Amino acid sequence: MMSRRVRILLIAVAVIFLVGVAGSFFVWNSPHGQVVQVVQDGRVLYTFDLSSQDDRTIQVEYDGRSNSIQTQDGRIRMLKADCPDHTCIQMGWLNSAVPIVCLPSHLVIQFAPSHDSMDAALR
Ligand SMILES: [Zn+2]
Repeated sequence: MMSRRVRILLIAVAVIFLVGVAGSFFVWNSPHGQVVQVVQDGRVLYTFDLSSQDDRTIQVEYDGRSNSIQTQDGRIRMLKADCPDHTCIQMGWLNSAVPIVCLPSHLVIQFAPSHDSMDAALR
């Protein structure tokens, strides 16, 4: 009776420990903050902090084509695009380290690499 209780207790402790490890693993791998960049040909056109960004739509032109980028409820996506494939629109809201890319318009929407390198770039 006693040893069974101890075993259950040990399993419970192990589960709590594993959940904790998995949780911190997730936090470490999530994008740093909510800062998003709109990059074209290696130039940062816009920087948004999604945690404080108002809902808006911005227009980006490239080579006669235009793309509409929408921010809403702390998220960002490609709303409209004149590109032939529309892959960028199908990617939906930016929600991970995978950037939204529009190859024909040379556009990338991505989370800012990290606060450290952002600070370094500003100096
Ligand atoms: Zn596109």
